[in-house]
Amino acid sequence: MITASRPGTDRHRLYASTTDTYDTDLDIDYVAVERVMNGDLVALTLTEKAMAARLLDARGASIRSIATLLDVDKATVTRWKATGWQVKRPARCGEPRMYRRHVYRGETPCRRCRDAFTAERRNERAAKKQTTTPGRDA
Ligand SMILES: [Zn+2]
Repeated sequence: MITASRPGTDRHRLYASTTDTYDTDLDIDYVAVERVMNGDLVALTLTEKAMAARLLDARGASIRSIATLLDVDKATVTRWKATGWQVKRPARCGEPRMYRRHVYRGETPCRRCRDAFTAERRNERAAKKQTTTPGRDA
């Protein structure tokens, strides 16, 4: 168990990933995550912080030391842990989620968001149609 306030202060370097340096799907820079896990001051995205928190927790770091290292509230780390370390990446324009965010904020959705939302709806309708109506040769 790691008891130091900085989990990276023991002899062994902590690794975020031994195969990848970047996750394009989740937008995670493993090199940055690894540097923070080892005590370097690097700005991380929220998703990267949650990834670092999960890895540090798995290595026995306390919630307090994780929160200190990542500069987040202990309550935030506790919540991440309780929800299986899932952090929603902030929505970006061009995603259906962002279309809903625009509407929620009372903004006029931009073209990219409208297109993404329309495409999602079209796919949902097509999927629904496929499961509710039998095909011609069924
Ligand atoms: Zn938009």
